[in-house]
Amino acid sequence: MRNKPWAFDYLKSNAHLVDVEENYKGRIKEFFPKEQDLHIEIGTGMGTFITSLAARNPNINYLGIEIDKNVMIRVVEKAEALKLDNLRLVLLDANHLNDYFQVSEVDKIYLNFSDPWPKNRHAKRRLTHSTFLTSYKSILREDAIVEFKTDNRGLFEFSLMSMNEFGMTFQNINLDVHAEEPEENIRTEYEEKFSSQGHKIYWIQASF
Ligand code: SAM
Repeated sequence: MRNKPWAFDYLKSNAHLVDVEENYKGRIKEFFPKEQDLHIEIGTGMGTFITSLAARNPNINYLGIEIDKNVMIRVVEKAEALKLDNLRLVLLDANHLNDYFQVSEVDKIYLNFSDPWPKNRHAKRRLTHSTFLTSYKSILREDAIVEFKTDNRGLFEFSLMSMNEFGMTFQNINLDVHAEEPEENIRTEYEEKFSSQGHKIYWIQASF
């Protein structure tokens, strides 16, 4: 995504939708008009997934987390058009989740087509590495689900092993989501792209 020098100003002008400077750190509930369960997506990309999910489920609060301000603009545009009370966004690096959220205040985490970081020396950057699982476990309430989708076989296998070694319980593992696509599946931008190239889509639902 091309660098947009005006990105920060644009995001700040949408402070009712996106937390640009971590103003809601430690008090995320105050960002939403209604107090209800909180589901988060880490690495929203352009935001089709989280905006569609929020439109479908008005009784759940959704927070989209994205590190890239240029990408976040696209999510804000979608969110602004939909005017959903239950959708908010934060410009945040997932490495700082523990500072941003309180313990046990999140009810579900979605990870969609996370960057695979194929080199072994970059394994710690994968969003299913044990360091990330440790922070997910801390911010999630007990028995909450982590949902993970990817087309990347290497990342999928790494994630299965990482979650298993961490002692997580697998609720569902699907090796070809689009073969019999569940009605509730919402295709992300990357999912559409890789599926149209003939890639299989893998899906894990697991809890701590
Ligand atoms: N989820 C989208 C989809 O499926 O179409 C986007 C997938 S894209 C490969 C990964 C996204 O995660 C990018 O938008 C990237 O900026 C974001 N990302 C990567 N590392 C992140 C981090 N540490 N914290 C927050 N977002 C991150």
